Amino acid sequence: MIVMKFGGTSVANFEAITRTIFIIGGKLDQKPVVVVSALSKVTDLLYRISDAAALKDKTLTRELLAELRQRHVNLACQLLEQNPVQKESAVSRVNAICDELDALANAVCAVGELSDRNKAIIISNGELLSSTIICFAMNAKGIRTNWIDARKMMVTNDAYLKGEPVESEIVSRVPGMIAEAYEGMDAVITQGFIASNMKGEQTVLGRGGSDYSASLIGLSVDAERIEIWTDVDGVRTADPRVVQNTKYLEKISFEEAAEMAHFGAKVLHPLTIEPAVKKNIPIYVLNSMNPSGKGTAILRNELIEDGVKSVSFKENIRVINIFSMRMINTSGFLRRVFEIFSENRVSVDLISTSEANISVTVDAGEKIENVVRELSEFAEVIVDEDKSQVSVIGKNIVRLNGMLKRTFAPLKRTNVYMISQGASFVNISFVVDREELTEVVQDLHDHLFDNPEELETF
Ligand code: ADP
Ligand code: ASP
Ligand code: MG
Repeated sequence: MIVMKFGGTSVANFEAITRTIFIIGGKLDQKPVVVVSALSKVTDLLYRISDAAALKDKTLTRELLAELRQRHVNLACQLLEQNPVQKESAVSRVNAICDELDALANAVCAVGELSDRNKAIIISNGELLSSTIICFAMNAKGIRTNWIDARKMMVTNDAYLKGEPVESEIVSRVPGMIAEAYEGMDAVITQGFIASNMKGEQTVLGRGGSDYSASLIGLSVDAERIEIWTDVDGVRTADPRVVQNTKYLEKISFEEAAEMAHFGAKVLHPLTIEPAVKKNIPIYVLNSMNPSGKGTAILRNELIEDGVKSVSFKENIRVINIFSMRMINTSGFLRRVFEIFSENRVSVDLISTSEANISVTVDAGEKIENVVRELSEFAEVIVDEDKSQVSVIGKNIVRLNGMLKRTFAPLKRTNVYMISQGASFVNISFVVDREELTEVVQDLHDHLFDNPEELETF
């Protein structure tokens, strides 16, 4: 069995879905479990619907709901043009999903209150719609396909908008549901991103979470491989939207891929690697617009060579500087500081300390007001905004002779605020001003990849 996950651009419209179905059709002998995202930009549209409803903006809510319905009805009609009976069923299914969403959005709009629970229900509709339409289209093309409701097998805790998977529950539910759905079928299709808690209430895994769904399913069915189909020819040395002359990577390790994703490379959801590692399932990142390409293989560490693989970055982060003379010679100070971050569920990326100071970086999206207030009770806290975090990633780079010199050589005129060498030997990270980011990553990338020097492990 293999898992094939198709992201938003791979299911964006008639042409993309036709290509995607062709790709799936070529792999039926490998028993694919197909996992799909919402159509490109649809999850953003659903967020806008929930915001408009929460603000009691009736006109906008209605307009956006109509746009959503129209896009999916049109797509179903286009894909099922030749099959009038199936077309009618698909359109009525799409309308039924949209009717339910309309009712909820209108109810939210009437009171102007949006709970996380209702927001999760609203934003789940993208995957429900896309998977429904694609299932009909696959059947119309002669691929007998069954639709599985991911909410019945993917279980998370109660964090409605960023549910943490309950792995034991998922692993016990998924294989049976998939085996049952597969009976007499050529393929099964389910939704990425969406799940439910133990009470059966709807949750989602957080933005970009479909990759994570795919690897959790891969783990559960002991898949031979997990394929992540997207809009680039695999993982590259940096984000090609920002950096020029990036290079294609034929293979990288689980650890390198996890670090790249955690440190900003949006090509994979940061938690995707974790389930795959447990059963050593290779992940392939492939381009649905160029299916004959080899893509990038993400494999176990021993199969990968040492050396620099990527320059990743997070564009908008904050540095929180915490000063206290009490830190000197006081055990327990660090514990207290990090308890505050943990109790407020703020996740920290980089940490550096000196005798009376701790600096940490956090994503700009994290809500830090409570953390700052609580820390200020016993320390002086200064928050630096508009910073970016840059990470050089590659197996054993921290052990390579001259690596630090090579990393910082191109940054002669740049202020560097924090430096951290990952304890895992794969990551050197530092902080710069946000306005300098593009130049810094381009210079650094050129320097590291355009004239590779032989480096020796010491
Ligand atoms: P999908 O909708 O298929 O999940 P995403 O937009 O989430 O696609 O991820 C693919 C995008 O990730 C690419 O279009 C690319 O711009 C971006 N990206 C960021 N870093 C990298 C990288 N190192 N290698 C390849 N793509 C990257
Ligand atoms: N549709 C969801 C999102 O846009 C999940 C995903 O695409 O991975 O975040
Ligand atoms: Mg994605």
